Amino acid sequence: MSPSDRPLIAIIGGGASGTLLAWNLRRQHVHARIIVIDPAARPAVGLAYSTLSPCHFLNVPAGGMSADPDDPEHFLRWLRVHHDPDVTSGQFMPRAVFGRYLSGLWTEAGPEWRQTRVLSCHRIAGGLELMLEDGGLLQADQVVLATGNFGPAPVARVTPELTRSGRYHPSGWDNGLYDTIAPEDAVVLIGTGLTSLDVLMRLRENGHAGTIVALSRHGWCPERHAPSVPAESDVIPVGTPATARAYFRAFRDSLAKGTGWRSAVDALRPRINPLWQALDLVEKKRFRRHLQRRWDIVRHRIAPGVADIMVAELEHGTLDCRRGQVTHLGLEAGQVVVNTRAGAGAFTLSADHVVNCTGPSRAYRQMPDTLPHALLEAGMVRETALGGLHCREDGALTDAAGQCAGDLFALGPMRWGTLFETTAIPEIRRQVADLAALLKERCGHDIREAPCDVALPG
Ligand SMILES: Cc1cc2nc3c(=O)[nH]c(=O)nc-3n(C[C@H](O)[C@H](O)[C@H](O)COP(=O)(O)OP(=O)(O)OC[C@H]3O[C@@H](n4cnc5c(N)ncnc54)[C@H](O)[C@@H]3O)c2cc1C
Repeated sequence: MSPSDRPLIAIIGGGASGTLLAWNLRRQHVHARIIVIDPAARPAVGLAYSTLSPCHFLNVPAGGMSADPDDPEHFLRWLRVHHDPDVTSGQFMPRAVFGRYLSGLWTEAGPEWRQTRVLSCHRIAGGLELMLEDGGLLQADQVVLATGNFGPAPVARVTPELTRSGRYHPSGWDNGLYDTIAPEDAVVLIGTGLTSLDVLMRLRENGHAGTIVALSRHGWCPERHAPSVPAESDVIPVGTPATARAYFRAFRDSLAKGTGWRSAVDALRPRINPLWQALDLVEKKRFRRHLQRRWDIVRHRIAPGVADIMVAELEHGTLDCRRGQVTHLGLEAGQVVVNTRAGAGAFTLSADHVVNCTGPSRAYRQMPDTLPHALLEAGMVRETALGGLHCREDGALTDAAGQCAGDLFALGPMRWGTLFETTAIPEIRRQVADLAALLKERCGHDIREAPCDVALPG
């Protein structure tokens, strides 16, 4: 397929997932031409680690963020050389520092980089062809979809007038929004999770002083990380019936026996995907309906320093976390009006700016500008009954007819739907190592000296 003697591996998306894969392929001397396609101005860092804000912290301690699952100290060693010689594994680093680490891995991997977007992908004799936004076509033997997280789904209808006003921000991850919000502006954040805290921290960094209202259906704020000892016994013992209720009971029983909730959650992490996959569709839906939000709160915890700031803001009333589901967004007298429903009641807020912080959407059918949407339309991939894409255990995507050619793979967040836990670095690095091994088996490898370590560019 590739004009050279080597097969061509195309990695779509050069964020953390794509970068780690390119790095692994290079370290394993896979006999292939490796091209990463990503339109971003800066490769390697993707959405999560492109922030330059010193207030945006990792939500996993440094000791858990190694790029290499078989070398848990890899990031720590890099930090000691390039950031702080005294850093410890329990510290939480700014995400920008992790971005520098990824940039170093990118440099070490040295993939070819095509700075454009992939519009679609279809099958041709003996391989796959990618259609690129720059007008090019790329023929590849193996393709990996590492397109990561897309912006949040709309919470209510947004009129063209509201969009034109520049006062409604459809994604809390849009760095441009900070240029438009003045220090005294009234701000409403839709969502009370990690993205809302990111926006709050960045606004404060920019001198914003007013009260910020954060709204969500439950009004729950994130929990903090704290040292925890691993649970001694199985939190959900083998043999527990595969139902949401039985899992919940077993979890509660474990807490009743004295296991701390953080320990229980952490102990479940390595088993969470098999537990999820054991549930049938009805039970998965039941879990999503009744337990998902609670799980998210205890699972996605924040760095202690960020938690301290959140608690102080809540105590001073400068952060007002409220329960309320947005039912309507409008524009009146130059202000954004937010109508909400909460329990039996309803209330209305008005603000200079409203920011949607509800987290990534995976409703690809409703996202016409994205590659997953184009792939679904072309029948190259299919959705699971709960959204997200259907793939095999090795990440190979299944097409609309249920067939799996085994040359188009999903990585990281793109496995969400098939997997429950798949978006964080600890899961991504494992998937990457396994996929690199599979691709090495297919493409063969070049015999070279052993890879170097640590001396990455800073
Ligand atoms: C704000 C935030 C903070 C996080 N913090 C942590 C943390 O502290 N610890 C942790 O373990 N995990 C964290 N995560 C989880 C995070 O999802 C992963 O760690 C990781 O960043 C996912 O990387 P990715 O490369 O799969 O996706 P992304 O970083 O989203 O990168 C995807 C890339 O694909 C490109 N792309 C998209 N569409 C196309 C196309 N059609 N053609 C070509 N390129 C395309 C994009 O330009 C982008 O560069 C965080 C996530 C977010 C959003």
